[in-house]
Amino acid sequence: MIVVMAAHATELQIQDVEKRIQDWGYGVHPIYGSERTVIGAVGVPEADKARYMESLESLPYVEQVIAILRPYKFASRDYRAENTDIDVKGVLIGGNQIAMMAGPCTVETYEQTWESAKACKEAGATILRGGAYKPSTSPYSFHGLGVEGLKILKDIGDKLDMRVITEVMDLRNVELVCEYADILQIGTRNMQNYDLLREVGKVKTPVMLKRGMSSKIEEWLQAAEYILLGGNPNVMLCERGIRTFETITRNTLDLSAVPAVKELTHLPVIVDPSQGTGKRSLVMALTKAAVAVGADGLIIEVHPHPEQAIKDGAQSLTCENFTQLMRELKPVAEAIGRSL
Ligand code: PEP
Ligand code: MN
Repeated sequence: MIVVMAAHATELQIQDVEKRIQDWGYGVHPIYGSERTVIGAVGVPEADKARYMESLESLPYVEQVIAILRPYKFASRDYRAENTDIDVKGVLIGGNQIAMMAGPCTVETYEQTWESAKACKEAGATILRGGAYKPSTSPYSFHGLGVEGLKILKDIGDKLDMRVITEVMDLRNVELVCEYADILQIGTRNMQNYDLLREVGKVKTPVMLKRGMSSKIEEWLQAAEYILLGGNPNVMLCERGIRTFETITRNTLDLSAVPAVKELTHLPVIVDPSQGTGKRSLVMALTKAAVAVGADGLIIEVHPHPEQAIKDGAQSLTCENFTQLMRELKPVAEAIGRSL
């Protein structure tokens, strides 16, 4: 349940409510706002809830007690009405400026990653993407350079002053990937890997949680809840397309999920039009559409020579394509009062 303190509640009254909640055996998760304090209480059996809610509501310095009906609490707008901004070492995600993440699908070589990163940076991207550990449907395809790939990303990120986002697939590698990356990506295939979600909940490195390709929005938000509950508040969501009957596109990019999710949660929402369409020719249009429906950021695959790419060449933009995309995206962002 969520306890909304009265606007005039004093520090002592807030402490009193926290103590009562603790004495009943709840975990206490307060948000101290400048106007008002909100206290999240977790962990009491359903049966005792009504009694405790009434008791708190009878206090004159409590404005309201809200039962949590949704199966996620910390991810919910009921818990936090304002949008959450995530500060990735000086690059803000969720603010007015749209966060542009770009780079190769996969780190193949130093030169390939450098060429892509440099062009993306020059065009205005602030975050470098690239896979060092690649999930793959086929056991026969390339699975990434591993630590060598992480080192390449970090070195190039440092040189170009770009933050780095890369996927972590294995809970045993979380600490290692945190040493090299500024944002941990949880891929679509791992959205329901609950042990991995718990593990990234233990660190403070921001996490971008991709939507499972067959997951409902509610399941996606419940997955985010695992990370938040673990104690990591820096979670952003990423719509990357879902499985439907359609086969012309690789996935069906569910752009309706962007405003829908933003109604339900305070977390920033990123869109991946590369995995979302599987086709270079569609990436530009879907990027503009994503911005128009309120995405807080984009993650886009860019390869200096897509025809030579080990993975996802067909959906990768060339460096020139990305420069053009940034140019054409600017007025779209400005039209809705945001910047690039
Ligand atoms: C990727 O970003 O290259 C990737 C593998 O993403 P997803 O998990 O969405 O398939
Ligand atoms: Mn890819």
